[in-house]
Amino acid sequence: MKENRSDMKSILRNTFCDIFEGQPCVFVSAPGRVNLIGEHTDYNDGFVLPMAIDRRIYVASSPRTDGNMCIYSWNYEQKVEFSVKELSIDTERRWVNYVKGVLATFTEEGFETGLGANLVIGGDVPLESGLSSSAALEMSVAFSFNQLFNLGIQVDKLVDLAQKAENDFVGVPCGIMDQFTSGLAKKNHALFLDCQSLQYEHIPLDLDRCNIVICNSNKPRGLANSAYHQRRAECQEGVKILNKYMPDVETLRDVGIKDLMRQWEKLPHPIGVRCGHVVSENQRVLNGVHALKVGDMNKFGQLMNESHESLNHLYEVSCSELDSLVTIARNVSGVLGARLTGAGFGGCTVNLVEKESVPIFKQKIFDIYPKETGLQPEIYVSQAVEGVKIE
Ligand code: ADP
Ligand code: MG
Repeated sequence: MKENRSDMKSILRNTFCDIFEGQPCVFVSAPGRVNLIGEHTDYNDGFVLPMAIDRRIYVASSPRTDGNMCIYSWNYEQKVEFSVKELSIDTERRWVNYVKGVLATFTEEGFETGLGANLVIGGDVPLESGLSSSAALEMSVAFSFNQLFNLGIQVDKLVDLAQKAENDFVGVPCGIMDQFTSGLAKKNHALFLDCQSLQYEHIPLDLDRCNIVICNSNKPRGLANSAYHQRRAECQEGVKILNKYMPDVETLRDVGIKDLMRQWEKLPHPIGVRCGHVVSENQRVLNGVHALKVGDMNKFGQLMNESHESLNHLYEVSCSELDSLVTIARNVSGVLGARLTGAGFGGCTVNLVEKESVPIFKQKIFDIYPKETGLQPEIYVSQAVEGVKIE
């Protein structure tokens, strides 16, 4: 796969002109995201606090009239054509299924895409790294169809359709956080989302003094899928047990730390510690939102550190590579917080780093991490940017 950060926007526009011999009618983009705090809480109806990162997927498109979709992937250098009525799973080119999934979901919900379109898709969100290139892809495609076919769908509904596409068509049981952030994030803000009510608040994120620095472990996420399913099941098991003693409990969101302590004996290992992570992580998100509101970045960093410890020891979704990145980071002065972000077992860490410490931070990671793991890391310093938009 190729990547070229110099000017994605014009590269994608030019690619469309080359492939389809004409200007696109619609040109949109949607960002990837990094979760600052609130991990493995979204599918437990809890709180999350992500921000959109300054890496995006661009989709240039124009309508057709023959009922076919013709899609070119700039990243994979592949062109695919299929009828909008022929939405079978593509077993060879996984990326096509995200587009087909969005189409299938639109059709199911009665939104007309019947005449087809030409699409060029590409961008610089790292793939399969926990920064949600999949949601960026779904949101940019959904937004394109909305514009192209004049469907008048609100962004919050597009978020819902994009998640359905990933859950039901692609078959990944992700929560709502990724699509929500890619759709509704705001520049210079984090997005505080209640995954139960779907109420959200844009929290100003002052990155004058500190940077959000993302380290990609480049560890393949081998164990991630099966562990993700297992953790979801363990949380459900916890809810089932707690519900016997506290009938109002329907999800872990309904459980406070004190409740959990009171029922601790009833929860076998590891169900108790899994619930312990989720319940305490929800509280850390609330505390984190407060810390940002009062500008207490040291406190926010401390909460990030606590989140990592909880993910590592209670939820057990870290790995030696992520721990290595976190330990190296914490030994650099000026690092206020470091934690794994995303599902775990690989992917990225997110770090809150004082600006003047960023160069030494990078140097330490590039020096030490390969020696400890045999892997080459990547580092992205990111602003908080806006969600899906017309370019
Ligand atoms: P993540 O969302 O953490 O990046 P996922 O496994 O959920 O990882 O989604 C990655 C998949 O999404 C890729 O394997 C590919 O199929 C698809 N995808 C993401 N970005 C692009 C892109 N720019 N072009 C085509 N497909 C993409
Ligand atoms: Mg994904």
